[in-house]
Amino acid sequence: MNPEIHFQPIEDLTLTTAQQEIKDLSDKLLKWGREYYEEDNPSVEDYVYDANYARLVALEKAFPSLVMPDSPTQRVAAGNSVQADSKGLKKVVHPVPMLSLGDVFSVEELYEWDKVTTKNAGAQQAYNLELKIDGLAISLRYENGRLIQASTRGDGTIGEDVTANVRTIKEIPQHLNEDLTIEVRGEIYMKKDVFAQLNAKRDEAGKPVFANPRNAAAGSLRQLDPKITAERHLSSFIYYTAQNDVLGTGTQSGVLDRFRQLGFPVNPDNRVISNMDQVKAYIDEYTEKRAFLPYGIDGVVVKVNDLAMENELGNTVKIPRWSIAYKFPPEEALTVVRDITWTVGRTGVVTPTAVMDPVLLAGTTVKRASLHNPDYLQEKDVRIGDTVTLHKAGDIIPEVGQVILDKRPEGDDQPYPIPQYCPSCGSKLVHVEGEVALRCINPECPAQIKEGLVHFASRNAMNIDGLGPRVVTQLIDKKFVKKISDLYALRADQLLQLDKFAELSADNLLNAIENSKNNSVERLITALGIRGVGAKAARVLAAHFKNLRNLQNASAEQIADIDGIGQVMADAIVQFFDSEKVGQLINELENFGLNFDYISSSSSDTSGYFYNKRIVLTGKLNHWTRPQMQNWLEDHGANVSSSVSSKTDLLIAGTDAGSKLKKARQLGVRVINEQEFIDLSDAEK
Ligand code: NAD
Repeated sequence: MNPEIHFQPIEDLTLTTAQQEIKDLSDKLLKWGREYYEEDNPSVEDYVYDANYARLVALEKAFPSLVMPDSPTQRVAAGNSVQADSKGLKKVVHPVPMLSLGDVFSVEELYEWDKVTTKNAGAQQAYNLELKIDGLAISLRYENGRLIQASTRGDGTIGEDVTANVRTIKEIPQHLNEDLTIEVRGEIYMKKDVFAQLNAKRDEAGKPVFANPRNAAAGSLRQLDPKITAERHLSSFIYYTAQNDVLGTGTQSGVLDRFRQLGFPVNPDNRVISNMDQVKAYIDEYTEKRAFLPYGIDGVVVKVNDLAMENELGNTVKIPRWSIAYKFPPEEALTVVRDITWTVGRTGVVTPTAVMDPVLLAGTTVKRASLHNPDYLQEKDVRIGDTVTLHKAGDIIPEVGQVILDKRPEGDDQPYPIPQYCPSCGSKLVHVEGEVALRCINPECPAQIKEGLVHFASRNAMNIDGLGPRVVTQLIDKKFVKKISDLYALRADQLLQLDKFAELSADNLLNAIENSKNNSVERLITALGIRGVGAKAARVLAAHFKNLRNLQNASAEQIADIDGIGQVMADAIVQFFDSEKVGQLINELENFGLNFDYISSSSSDTSGYFYNKRIVLTGKLNHWTRPQMQNWLEDHGANVSSSVSSKTDLLIAGTDAGSKLKKARQLGVRVINEQEFIDLSDAEK
């Protein structure tokens, strides 16, 4: 159950609890709005946003005295502060505001809206039905038939100038077929196949992928460099103008026809209807067809077709009264579970995964979904051969919704059996007291050793280049490595027996392994994989104890006394070093000559610019990855944290930075970009 969309009954609220909830909802919606509109990087699905928004509307209706003038319900695109100019794009004032749309989430609500509209209009209206394209709104200004300006909606009153970028979109005419002076509006979107290719390429290049085609379109359009926009192959549909008089037609469907004549891309699926049953039929039709369209739609827009009546009905400050959006429920897909596989993680936790027939879900092909742990699997009662619903909950990770029991294969009357033995080493699995997880506690389990080695070599840990999962698997399969210390005894003739290994790559890997011996000890502490101890805690421990042996001999009290280390972590550390096997491993590593001292530059060099500074990173980096930059900064004595406050000394802002940048500016925190960071870091070499 998603806690973000389940609320207490309104009757149970007092004025005080309602006020608190309204505040919490407003804060959440503003944060999500910023992530969505400014950073093009939402952290929740649209339906979660919509459910919270609807809750705020309901609370404000029940407690009108609590409505704040700056509530997200009172503004277009709340959370989008174009004025803060996070992208460096020029601002454009919209002479006629670009509004949002009112929305409904069920056909019943749509019938209600029709009743009110019919009453206000004095008679049942014909409606023009359009698909609600899942992109971002655009305004295009033409003078004597020539495109002169393109801008985003922004906060509805002020948008961003994206003219140069829009000129790269082939579907948008630079010249109209008639010399009209007109401002038109529509949607910029990214086709599903373009989106899939873009994400595949980004993934390959180690760049973060976009959550969905809408964010990819927004991120691609709101670029300072039009070349990037051009490479992203955006598309467009135009559907509105506030200057109907210029077109000489009396209906919304007529407007679309005129747009086609002028050379605009216009969605072909609009339909004029005369009663609500036809609206329902259109919605049903496109609920089915949606998955097969080459672009994403998130609903259906119903518009009064008669433009004179449109005018008469008018707008509120935020939405038109002559139009409404019906939003589809969160996208779900049906698929069949073909297998349930169990994988063993580094700490021995055994996790079930459903392997399913591949299915397209919200823009990506999904074929696996985690079933988290045995309790979860049993609660859902998923069995091989079951048809299940899939959705993307809370974030972009696919999740099994429920089993469709009607479709369960006949004769299947047994729940899926939870394994009793480790799928990797065959030892008996255990349920550790107080945990839902199932664990393999055999320290010699090959799957755990493999995961442990991959972690040991990873960038944040010993940073051994070339020692990824593929190589580790082979080293274990060939029995060249049975435990971590064996890495330091590897020979070139062994590496040459691995797939795709030649002399040069063998030498490179041996050098990388050799060099890792000189790492400052916090890397080794991270690499050991003590439960709960990540790179940051390892650094604190290393800086405090100065040598691994001191940490090994410390008591839980001494460890818990350190600022930033809690009792749970202290206990885990002591427990870890208590193990005889760990003691042996540490001795072996010492014999191989691994450095156990804290030699981080921060301990020796306190003169650098970054030393002792509180630093926050934000936005997308082009030359460094975030972990690399964070490591480098911490190596140079900086304290890197995740949120900006008045105590922050410096914000390093990559491209597309959003709320953190805004806050830093408000607080007067120094901001530098990636290039300035590179210049400063070069100066410290
Ligand atoms: P909206 O997307 O619900 O509807 C208005 C927009 O629909 C218009 O501005 C226009 O761009 C678009 N549209 C597409 N096809 C259209 C057509 N044929 N005719 C007219 N308009 C058409 O409203 P909004 O204000 O842009 O955004 C609010 C929505 O954005 C929320 O309901 C939510 O779903 C989403 N959102 C999500 C998050 C998140 O964190 N996931 C955050 C903020 C907003």
